[in-house]
Amino acid sequence: MIAYFVMECAVDSRIPTYSGGLGILAGDTLQSFADLEVPAVCITLLWKNGFTNQKLSNDGSQIDSAQEWDIEKYMQPTNIKIKIPLGGKDVTITAFKYIVESIKGDNEIDVYFLTPDTLENDPETRKICDRLYIAGGLTRLKQEIILGIGGYEMLKALNYRPFLYHINESHSAFLIAGLMKDMDDLNRVKSRVVFTTHTPIPAAFDKFEMKDVKDMLSRYCEEKVFNDIYREDLEEKDELNLSWLAIKNAKNVVAVSRKHKFVSEHIFEGYKLKYVTNGIHHVKWASPHHKMLFTKFIAGWEEDPDLLRGASCIPDGDFLQAHILCKETLIEMINSETDSSFVTSDFTIAMAKRITHYKRNNLILSNPDKLIEIAEKKGNIQIVFAGKAHPADTDGLAIVKSIYDVSRYISSKTKKVKIAFLENYNIHKANIILSGVDLWLNNPTRPLEASGTSGMKASLNGVPNLSVLDGWWLEACMEGINGWGIGPKPAWTDLSYSDDMHDLNDIYGKLEFNILDLYYKNYSDYIKIMKMAVSSIAPHFNTHRMVSEYVTDLYLTGIIMCYMEKEKEGICDI
Ligand SMILES: *Cc1c(COP(=O)(O)O)cnc(C)c1O
Repeated sequence: MIAYFVMECAVDSRIPTYSGGLGILAGDTLQSFADLEVPAVCITLLWKNGFTNQKLSNDGSQIDSAQEWDIEKYMQPTNIKIKIPLGGKDVTITAFKYIVESIKGDNEIDVYFLTPDTLENDPETRKICDRLYIAGGLTRLKQEIILGIGGYEMLKALNYRPFLYHINESHSAFLIAGLMKDMDDLNRVKSRVVFTTHTPIPAAFDKFEMKDVKDMLSRYCEEKVFNDIYREDLEEKDELNLSWLAIKNAKNVVAVSRKHKFVSEHIFEGYKLKYVTNGIHHVKWASPHHKMLFTKFIAGWEEDPDLLRGASCIPDGDFLQAHILCKETLIEMINSETDSSFVTSDFTIAMAKRITHYKRNNLILSNPDKLIEIAEKKGNIQIVFAGKAHPADTDGLAIVKSIYDVSRYISSKTKKVKIAFLENYNIHKANIILSGVDLWLNNPTRPLEASGTSGMKASLNGVPNLSVLDGWWLEACMEGINGWGIGPKPAWTDLSYSDDMHDLNDIYGKLEFNILDLYYKNYSDYIKIMKMAVSSIAPHFNTHRMVSEYVTDLYLTGIIMCYMEKEKEGICDI
């Protein structure tokens, strides 16, 4: 059994326990575990008030509030309670269970959402896991101890005996202290741990004061455990960096794309990483119209997404019909939520994702006069924006405001360029936006996009990408055949940053001299690219392929090691 640990998990569009890519990937991975019958269990945290509910004020500023939802409507409480010592207190933790059912309905994966919100705890303790990523400092430390150590102990209490612990992003790395406490042998611990690193931005790695960590865990494990799992020589003095903790104590460290492997090896100097490029769950992310289309022309695609290469043979008329129905749904949503009066016939671009500095969400609006000039020459342009900024991310909040401000400027100048901002981006809206536009725009600063997955979802629905050559797109892009790149194509080991002006000129240039002409004057060639987006991307960039690679390259290695140790008792279940 694999124990999959993750801080955020998006298992259902009505459960707001996620912020972005990491949580969505976890949900898609669990779905593929269920479909492919991989024995696994997931540990995550129950974010009682979600991440952030986004509204825009009259002047385009983001207003944050908690996301209320009804836990017991979607999850079963378990009666299991465990106690873990957290500093001076014993904290009681319970879990709610959610079941991910396979698409065929014949298999299940259990997901345990942990929470300290129980009657036994004082009011302050009960609130530790209220909101995802909002609290920092000691509260964040407590959350991550509950995830790592609480999760580890909860699995024991529930009688699971995982042979491998898969740490997804370092938030849950404290589980290593639990393993070390029970096994007391660094090499044995390492053989049980797989760590996937999901971001190449060291500023985003969790770091805590060593003193706080020792205080918090002083009654859980002996100081020796820390001395074993932590190596002072490699870290900032008196600081515990969870990414380093995970790296040093995992047999295998995994990056989420080939490019990300090289970027991460530069950060984690001295370590060799493997890589498994991320994917999406093809059935979850196909629009209702594309599901019907694929079922009609590509029998078996649900079980075997490899078959989607057959999308090339779908007749243009049927293919286009599915796209237009999706586009109508999107335009209806935009026109009912905003006053931007989009029309179905106009070329429509999406920029929808978390809003933060490196994603450069407003890059395309940097020169609004140029954008207007392109539309006047080549045809109307509509751009739909969506995404939440973290409520404490001043750069992100400024981007939200600037999108609003520039859209006001543009609407005062022309009707040929229209901008809409959809509030409160989530899975449901993502599904409608990414299947309903004509072009999926993605322009993070290279090389900071570890993989990216939203462009895979667009491709699956026949929407081509115009995207920076980084992360997954560097593996997938065939220029002018299944989409377009932004900026120069870097070598795998090239760690240089992309240049804003250069990328911007490339976006404007490709729109003006390439993409808009195809859309407005040569649509049959545009449809060819749309079909190639499906047939060349969907068969590979899905979580069935991703999970199969994890199983053969990482999980099975773990089982073989267990056999080699001839372990018959303890934590190993073989
Ligand atoms: C897929 C998805 C993401 C991740 O998007 P990236 O562009 O890969 O960062 C974030 N939010 C939602 C709602 C998604 O569906």
